[in-house]
Amino acid sequence: NIESLFDIAIEKIKESERIYIVSHVQPDGDNIGSILALWIAIKKIKDKVFILKTDDIPSDFLFLPNVNEIKEFNDEGKIDMFIALDTSDENRLGKNKELLNKAKTIINIDHHISNTNFGHINIVDSNAAATGELVYNLIKKMNIPMDKDIASCIYTAISSDTGSFMYDNTSAETHRIIAELIDIGIDKSNININLYQNKSLERTMLFIKSLETLRLYFNNNVALIKVTQDMLNKANAKMEDTEGIVSFIREIAPVEVGIILKEFKENEIKVSMRSKRFIDVSAICASFNGGGHIRAAGCTINSPMDIAEKLILDELKKVF
Ligand code: 5GP
Ligand code: MN
Ligand code: MN
Repeated sequence: NIESLFDIAIEKIKESERIYIVSHVQPDGDNIGSILALWIAIKKIKDKVFILKTDDIPSDFLFLPNVNEIKEFNDEGKIDMFIALDTSDENRLGKNKELLNKAKTIINIDHHISNTNFGHINIVDSNAAATGELVYNLIKKMNIPMDKDIASCIYTAISSDTGSFMYDNTSAETHRIIAELIDIGIDKSNININLYQNKSLERTMLFIKSLETLRLYFNNNVALIKVTQDMLNKANAKMEDTEGIVSFIREIAPVEVGIILKEFKENEIKVSMRSKRFIDVSAICASFNGGGHIRAAGCTINSPMDIAEKLILDELKKVF
């Protein structure tokens, strides 16, 4: 059971010398908050603990404590322990995937139902609202005092993945954890402004441009928008600036599924899907080798935008 898995993981962490905590591709608040919280905690008891960067950290999260500790791997020592957080499968490790072969022990801590259990120790709990909840439990069980920095990172992780405590995955336990983080003295007003009230003008322009591409399908049950490289150039924005657009279109009353198609390259379309009440978007994305959660999932389609759009709509036609 999960309790004994925590105990085994803690034993292994204590006896490992060089520990690498690794971020996932296109890191989000849950991933970044979780890796920073765990790094700060382990750093209190171990000297050689490192955080590996996989992709760039979106500017939203640069306010977090110790964010500069997230660094590229430089091949200077052995990897006694590799810890993946919020990472459903090996491919989500991007360029750092190959390091799995060098690691003596792999710990995989996650809350995706689609997790492939790629670690030696797999702490996977799809009932957790965020990986940040699991990291909170791990730090508690290690008896490491929860300081304000750790608490701020865990708050960021949980708030990000629950849509500020709005989504179904938010439990009584989630609120109990958050209550404790507030008692520790986090500046939640400042964290919330950084996370949610800090949009650049470029991001705002991209928001406007992308909403112009809005199309509704299947009796307004599906809302779809597109972001192309051309649109990014015109708004002087980055792909990370699309964050939040897909959940925004899900807010439209009749919409059950919101979809954004992001053109990373001409033949590389990253799809993000969000649902509201009953559609399992993780299952839909699984048919394109993607995955995620029931209400938030994604996949990548290696075709041009118009073909990707057609493939996605054909798949949705089966459920609407
Ligand atoms: P987002 O749409 O914000 O990129 O991701 C939403 C959720 O779906 C996240 O939990 C993320 O882990 C998952 N997800 C997104 N893209 C992929 C993908 O290509 N493969 C898998 N397995 N999961 C994905
Ligand atoms: Mn994530
Ligand atoms: Mn997560």
